[in-house]
Amino acid sequence: MTEALPAALPETVPVRPPLGSNLDGVRQHNLGTVLRLVHGIPGRSRSELTRATGLSRSTIGALVAELAAMGLVSETEPRESTGVGRPSPVVRANPDVVVITVNPEVDGVTVGVVGLDGTVHRQVRHATATPPTAQEAARIVAALLDGLKALIDTGLRVTGIGAAVPGSVREADGVVRLAPHLEWVDEPFAALLEESTGLPAVVANDASLGAGAEHLFGAGRGIDDLIYLNGGAGGIGGGVITHALPLTGSFGYAGELGHTLVNSAGGRCHCGAIGCLETEVSQARLLEALGVADPEHLDDAMKQLDEAGRAEVERQVRYLAIAIRNAVNILNPRLVVLGGFLGALHDAAPGMLESEVRAQSLATSAEQVDIVRSELGADVLTVGAGELAFTRLIADPTALQR
Ligand SMILES: [Zn+2]
Repeated sequence: MTEALPAALPETVPVRPPLGSNLDGVRQHNLGTVLRLVHGIPGRSRSELTRATGLSRSTIGALVAELAAMGLVSETEPRESTGVGRPSPVVRANPDVVVITVNPEVDGVTVGVVGLDGTVHRQVRHATATPPTAQEAARIVAALLDGLKALIDTGLRVTGIGAAVPGSVREADGVVRLAPHLEWVDEPFAALLEESTGLPAVVANDASLGAGAEHLFGAGRGIDDLIYLNGGAGGIGGGVITHALPLTGSFGYAGELGHTLVNSAGGRCHCGAIGCLETEVSQARLLEALGVADPEHLDDAMKQLDEAGRAEVERQVRYLAIAIRNAVNILNPRLVVLGGFLGALHDAAPGMLESEVRAQSLATSAEQVDIVRSELGADVLTVGAGELAFTRLIADPTALQR
C-alpha cells in the first residue's frame, strides 16, 4: 500500500502583509522591493517589475511614481519597441543618490563614491607607510571626503557610509573585534566614522561584502551557493553565500577560510595558529619569488615565469587547493570566486587548481563546482561596501524623507 500523497500546494501563494503590520509597513516593504530590483543595474522595464513582484501594473506604477518623487528612481521611454504591445517604460535607479565606501588596508585607505545604480563615481586612495589605526583611518576618510567635495557638490546626495574591513566585525554596532593585520582590537569603527564625517556608517568584513558583490553583480550572478576568496596584501579573507544569503554565523564572523589549516608542519600565523592558508599562500611570498615590487604588475609577471617562479606558483596553488577542498566538502558550493592575487595565481597555472581540488574533494561535492576569477576585479570591495550602505535605504526608502 502506498502512502497518501500530501495535498498539492497552490500554484501561487497569496501576498499578504506580515502579521501585525499596518498599511504603511506594506507600502514601505513594496517600495523597498521595487528599489531592490532596480538598483545596481542599468534598469528594468515596468513590465519586468510587474512580473517579478506579482503586483498589479497600477500598483507598480504608483510605487515607481512615489520612488521617483523621492528622487530615488527615474523613468525613461525605451529606445525601441520589442514589437509586442506597447513598449514598457524603463525604471532606473538614480546614480546621483550615493554612498561613500571605505576600505582600510595595511598599506592605505581607499574611499569610493558609489551610485544607487551601481556607478562607481570615483575611487581615491591614501597610502600609509604603516597600518593605520582605526582613529587614523577615520581621519583619513574625512580628509579624502574633503577632497571629493567638488564632485559631491555637482548634485550628489550622500546617504551614508559602508566600510569593508579585513577582520572580524560585529555588524550590529560596527565594532571591529579583531583585524590582526591592522592590529585593531575592539575598535568602534562605525562610531569613529560617524564622528569624523557626520554620516551614518555601517561596517562589515571585507570578503563577506566581496562575496555579496560577486553574487549580485559579478561572476556569481544567478548562482545562489558560492564561496568568495580574496587575496590581498593583508592576507586571505573568505565569504560564503548559501541559498542566496550570506553565511554569517552567530555574530557575523563566519567564513574565515584564510585561517583554515593547510599545513600541519607550517609556520605560525599571526592569529596564533600553525599552518593557516594565508601563511602558505601569500601575496608577499609571491611578489618576492617573482621579483616584483608592485602587486599591480603581478599578472604581467605571471606570464613570464622562470623555474623558481613557477615552483612558487605551483606550491601556492597546491595549498590553496587544500583549503578549497575543505570548503567544497563542507559547503557544497556551485562556484568558487577568486579575487585579488588569488585570481592571478589561478590564471598562472591554468586548470591546475581545478584538477587538484577535484582529485581531493568528495566526488559528489566536486563534480559541479566551477572555479573562476572575480569579475568585479579592483572594484569588488567598493561595490560590496556600497551595497552594505544601501541596505538600510532599500529596506525602507521612506527613511530618506525623515
Ligand atoms: Zn591564522
